[in-house]
Amino acid sequence: MKAVRFYDAHCHYSYLKKKYEGFMIAAVSMDYASSVETLSLKSENVLTGVGIHPWKVHEEKLEKIEELIDKADFIGEVGLDYRFAKASKELQLSYFTFFVRKAAESDKLINVHALDAWREAFNVVINGGVKRAIFHWYSGPEDLLKDIEGAGFYLTVNPSVTFQQKHRRLIEKAPVEILLTESDGGYEYKGKLLEPTDIISTIQFVAQLKDIDVEELSKIIQNNFRNAFNLKI
Ligand SMILES: [Zn+2]
Repeated sequence: MKAVRFYDAHCHYSYLKKKYEGFMIAAVSMDYASSVETLSLKSENVLTGVGIHPWKVHEEKLEKIEELIDKADFIGEVGLDYRFAKASKELQLSYFTFFVRKAAESDKLINVHALDAWREAFNVVINGGVKRAIFHWYSGPEDLLKDIEGAGFYLTVNPSVTFQQKHRRLIEKAPVEILLTESDGGYEYKGKLLEPTDIISTIQFVAQLKDIDVEELSKIIQNNFRNAFNLKI
């Protein structure tokens, strides 16, 4: 296994299809088609996730995706989005509850999108008995941080932390024990295509923000990633 130095806990790898030396990538999916593609990209440095993103719930069926779950390392990207999704809250909730049940049954990690629905999504995950969860690109309420920590869950810091005030303030407050790095790679944000390589400067920025050594922070994040995804090595 080639040396891994950086850990990307949430990346739309099927949209990038590039090799990233030195990176361990958790590849999330948006819908059935990208889930099939993600599964084909599995390698020693790529973990695969399948799911239906809340933005796709209104046009996707659950039946087809169900058979893919066994083949995946984790479930995601799934969740709730009360700002941008076209599907009703009820339909989003029924899809998300389905994926949470599947994650609990198969003891897989769930990679959660919860824009404007952080507390609701957390409650669904907790009530569903899921043991390992990531709340990606966290911009939820500050008081939920202690609940995420108490449950043994994680949240990801996105490269946008350098300029997105709310995200930065929350990352400042979040204990490093619950932090993971992500790129959300493949997604274009404010005119910039996000990529795993953005994590290098993200770690430097967070180390400075938290007044902690870059190497030490990298080690903590490596540990968190291995725990979150239940990696044996
Ligand atoms: Zn994403």
